[in-house]
Amino acid sequence: SLQCGIVGLPNVGKSTLFNALSNAKAEAANYPFCTIEPNVGVVTVPDDRLGILEGIVKPEKVLPAIIEFVDIAGLVKGASKGEGLGNQFLANIREVDAIVHVIRCFQDDNIIHVNGKVDPISDKEIIETELQLKDLDSVEKKLSKVERSAKAGDAKAKKEVVTLTLYRNHLLEGKNARSLDLPQEDKAVLDDLHLLTIKPVIYAANVDEKSLPDGNEYVERLRKEVEKENAQIVIVCAAIEAQIQELTDPEEKAMFLQEYGLTDSGLNRLIRASYALLDLITYFTAGVKEVRAWTITKGWKAPKAASVIHNDFEKGFIKAEVIKLKDYQTYKSEAGCKEAGKISIEGKEYLVEDGDIMHFRFNV
Ligand code: GDP
Repeated sequence: SLQCGIVGLPNVGKSTLFNALSNAKAEAANYPFCTIEPNVGVVTVPDDRLGILEGIVKPEKVLPAIIEFVDIAGLVKGASKGEGLGNQFLANIREVDAIVHVIRCFQDDNIIHVNGKVDPISDKEIIETELQLKDLDSVEKKLSKVERSAKAGDAKAKKEVVTLTLYRNHLLEGKNARSLDLPQEDKAVLDDLHLLTIKPVIYAANVDEKSLPDGNEYVERLRKEVEKENAQIVIVCAAIEAQIQELTDPEEKAMFLQEYGLTDSGLNRLIRASYALLDLITYFTAGVKEVRAWTITKGWKAPKAASVIHNDFEKGFIKAEVIKLKDYQTYKSEAGCKEAGKISIEGKEYLVEDGDIMHFRFNV
């Protein structure tokens, strides 16, 4: 499943946020394929449409989609040179699909700041520099290998040298690989490098309670800085996020959020931002045994979408029966939809849409 790595300097609120996430954790037994490790929190993705389907189908169980958050603590200045177990943490980042970069935007004299003062821009730079140095290392290693083939006359290698050099210079300027805009086919040379700074990022600005919901001057400075990157900032207060997650009664929760001018928890806003960032959509399967949400990338065709249920489904794909949620609501059952002619039979080229209720037919 989808993994987001939580990074940031020490004492910015990562563990507080991570613990809040872990409070919201999914019933692990239902998700046997998830990583179960102390630094991984498996969180369900809130989705009102599941409740609608549950009301109609009345299944034995309902399984929301999930996201895994990985707490990547211990990233400090010098990590790329192996300081403070640096390399191990950087290796952890290599595995994730997206990065949530927590940035301290609260003042609290009792909580030591590693650099002596709260400064979101310099905090962001310190972490990014470590990641960039690591990427520079990977790019330079590959560059010297490819240069040898280029000298031997390999035309493809010559093109790759050009691209890798662009990346090297970009990183040397203190920029992230993700901000270098090159044609997709040129970027293929990076595929085996799994660069850290090419991963999509969300900035979680950790503010104090009184700065909710709109932030404060630290957030404004961060916003200016991030503007050029086309990345999203989510304002959270890690300290109250834990309390929010403890409230199970929806009404109580809504009232608590309202006190802070919020309509949704920081966690949910982070999850939604991750979905948007990664271009993710959800389709459903609905049966009496279970109603379930599945996460796929926008633009996936039916066979690929089926593969998230089971690898074999892609190869053995025959066709898909698709019902739109609106029709399911109107006709109250699969049979009702069928009678009304509201089930469409789709083939291999069908682009799955957000909210589709899918039933796959396949060969085993
Ligand atoms: P980490 O080192 O990044 O994992 O940071 P922690 O989550 O351990 O937080 C460091 C300290 O900051 C702890 O004492 C937290 O209670 C405190 N802290 C975290 N978030 C907030 C916040 O939103 N406001 C305030 N005032 N303190 C916070």
